[in-house]
Amino acid sequence: MTRALGFAFAALAGISLAAQRPALSDAVSAYVTVDAPVVALVNARVIDGTGAPPREGQTLVLRDGRIAAMGDASRVRPPAGATLVDLAGKTVMPGLVMLHEHLYYPVGPGVYGQLGQSFSRLYLAGGVTTMRTGGNMNGFMDLNLKRAIDEGRAAGPAMDATAPYVNGANTFMQMRSMAGPDEARRQVAYWADMGATSFKAYMQISKAELGAVIDEAHTRGLKVTAHLCSVTYAEAAALDIDNLEHGFFAATDFVPDKQSDVCPGQARAQQAMALVDESSPGFQALVRTLVEKRVALTSTLTVFETLTPGRPVPPGQDVLLPLLKEQFAQNHRRTSENTSSAYRTLFAKGMALERAFARAGGLLVVGTDPTAGGGVVPGFANQRALELLVEAGFTPLEAISIATRNGARYLGRDADIGTLATGKQADLVVIDGDPSRVIADVRRVDTVFRQGTGYDPAKLVASVAGRVGLW
Ligand SMILES: [Zn+2]
Repeated sequence: MTRALGFAFAALAGISLAAQRPALSDAVSAYVTVDAPVVALVNARVIDGTGAPPREGQTLVLRDGRIAAMGDASRVRPPAGATLVDLAGKTVMPGLVMLHEHLYYPVGPGVYGQLGQSFSRLYLAGGVTTMRTGGNMNGFMDLNLKRAIDEGRAAGPAMDATAPYVNGANTFMQMRSMAGPDEARRQVAYWADMGATSFKAYMQISKAELGAVIDEAHTRGLKVTAHLCSVTYAEAAALDIDNLEHGFFAATDFVPDKQSDVCPGQARAQQAMALVDESSPGFQALVRTLVEKRVALTSTLTVFETLTPGRPVPPGQDVLLPLLKEQFAQNHRRTSENTSSAYRTLFAKGMALERAFARAGGLLVVGTDPTAGGGVVPGFANQRALELLVEAGFTPLEAISIATRNGARYLGRDADIGTLATGKQADLVVIDGDPSRVIADVRRVDTVFRQGTGYDPAKLVASVAGRVGLW
């Protein structure tokens, strides 16, 4: 089957699922502050996610989970009986569409705690209304939680749930080691049958296995992303991969004497990347290949920031279980004292290369990756990701588009979500401020609307505060 046909199937499935607006359980309703048949948001500043400048004095009418009307107050009148919400001084922007999220977190040496219950609430509180989990270490939790959210039994974003990682021989205790392309194909088929809607390949996969994964997934209209090492970005592009994770931090294309199908180690890949000049013919050729093959690139600066000396403690630490908070604080201290860390120069280089990819016409998307040594806290980190995109040289409006429209485009759901317009799903974030001027205002979330229902971020956060790490 051609790739284009596969994408069309995925897009249709997305729209039909989104059309169902479930009745919310009492447990979910506890976080809801706005729930009415017709809601009119008035006096709003609108950032629509397309990159267009903000518009002042806008009215949005929400009905049946959709934006029934949107425009200047002089043109769009709140219908009789609508619940009015005055947003003077506030901004409405699309809900975030974040593509490298996880429902697990590092809690001990090589151990990843399964924190889907608290994470899904934190993601929603942070303004994330749609997310893709980028690989899982649990098996069925991503799928079960996605269903619970779809059915109104749990609070959280719409989820593109990935299968467990597809990887070659590896030493992770919670990850399978596949042996060959036939096994890879069977693993994809099994998880697709179980309901997984995307796949994430990992560092030790072989070209033959990755090719089988991509072929089997595309046959089913599903997409594949990867955190690569054994396979280069150019090789994966030639195999028709859809997406690559971690900007260029995981590219082994520039490692001298890179051996086929062998991961030279993340450190060597990053040493090579530190020396890459964005104007060099080699880098430009790789970018051209990715753009021509329409391979999206996911920026995950939030996780690399935790590895970089001299950076601030990431936001949201207080919601963690005290032991986990202290564990990361120790890691952060150790990182700051590491005078020889490659990340001292690598972090800025990574930013520059991602910017070059986007400027060359590549589809840059974004996610947070709450893994590595901890400290990346869902929801809070999604907001931090926008700040880091601005630090990387994007304007605030560009950063917002990357985190909304671009993610929706990648998922094939941009007709429905990712930007604000009449007829689109009412997934939006109300910000107490103007993030088009001060990107840090994205931290000031007033209300998160998903399918037209308004959630209180403070209540969502309070429901897990101090216990993130247990469940
Ligand atoms: Zn990850």
